[in-house]
Amino acid sequence: MATQIARPLGLYLHIPFCDAICNYCNFNRGLFDAGVKRRYLEALQLEIASSGDGNRVDSVFFGGGTPSILDPSEVSGLITRCRSGFAVDPMAEITLEMNPETASRERLDGYRAAGVTRLSLGVQSFRDEELRRLGRLHTADKAIEAFGLARAAGFDDISVDLMVWLPEQTVSHWLESVETLVDLGCDHASLYLLELYPGAPLKEEMARGGWSQAPDDTAAEMYHTGLDRLEGAGYRQYEISNVARPGRRSRHNLKYWSDGEWVGFGCGAHSTRDGRRWHNVSQIGSYIDRVRGGTSPVARCRTLSADERLTDTLFLGLRLSEGIDLLVVERRYDVNVWARWGCELAPFVEDGVLAREGNRLRLTRDGMLLANEVMRVFV
Ligand code: SF4
Repeated sequence: MATQIARPLGLYLHIPFCDAICNYCNFNRGLFDAGVKRRYLEALQLEIASSGDGNRVDSVFFGGGTPSILDPSEVSGLITRCRSGFAVDPMAEITLEMNPETASRERLDGYRAAGVTRLSLGVQSFRDEELRRLGRLHTADKAIEAFGLARAAGFDDISVDLMVWLPEQTVSHWLESVETLVDLGCDHASLYLLELYPGAPLKEEMARGGWSQAPDDTAAEMYHTGLDRLEGAGYRQYEISNVARPGRRSRHNLKYWSDGEWVGFGCGAHSTRDGRRWHNVSQIGSYIDRVRGGTSPVARCRTLSADERLTDTLFLGLRLSEGIDLLVVERRYDVNVWARWGCELAPFVEDGVLAREGNRLRLTRDGMLLANEVMRVFV
């Protein structure tokens, strides 16, 4: 395999606390408890301190859970710890996920002063009845207010998360949310399809309330019409679920899709670096006990084979609108993708699911809804 030039790392910090548990959520999170949070943050500081190796870092991401449950001083302490262990670029992208109900001007000013450069607002919908069905704590008005407060505090890079294919959602309901997002003028948006995992409390509530999700072809219409509206307003789709204004793509998230490297801290956090992949124990208590007891919090670590790295590059790279550069892949992995998988890929090209343009192979917009079928070719 050809040698790769070292690229800057991303750091991910997991904050697993929430004020309430949403009925569709299967992230690694738990209910807020002040004592547990204090011990958790001490452990997080210790883990970062013991991992710091002076490597260059150009993105830091506070994800959760609800990172905006933390006080600005706590966020500041964690950023300082990252800066003392790693060479964090002065212009690094530092993102914090925020739930609208936690937003106040004072808090947002504090995050700015702490060094946060980018906010990711978990809005999900600008319709109150949809938010209620999801068990969210905020209203549409509160989400709009949170966005305004963030702008007033000086955040010029704000992403908004919206969920599509919600129970009882129609195409026009969905477009109302998209329209509000456009009116606000956010810089980046993530559009996530609601996925109901087995046993999700929302499934039961849907049965009790007689709520249903629209048919698959309506969900596809929502996806396409939403993206059309956003592209008409100056956003560019750059990944299956993400659009951005020019220059506002998420530097951190791009590492996940473009063969980048990152180190995750906190319970359940995943890392990929130097050809290895590992993740921490997911349970909050075990994580705290291990780190405070001087034991590694890593639950599993393995070295990726060249083949696994290649399939990851293809699998994740195809999520990007620009797709993958087959020449770069060949130089890096010494594999001609078309020679190896051309027979299986050609029918997708004929059906307009994949486009092959020069050295590039990418999913078409229609193909993005069939991404899993294409990606099965590689795994
Ligand atoms: S706020 Fe986010 S992480 Fe917390 S329960 Fe709701 S969806 Fe899950």
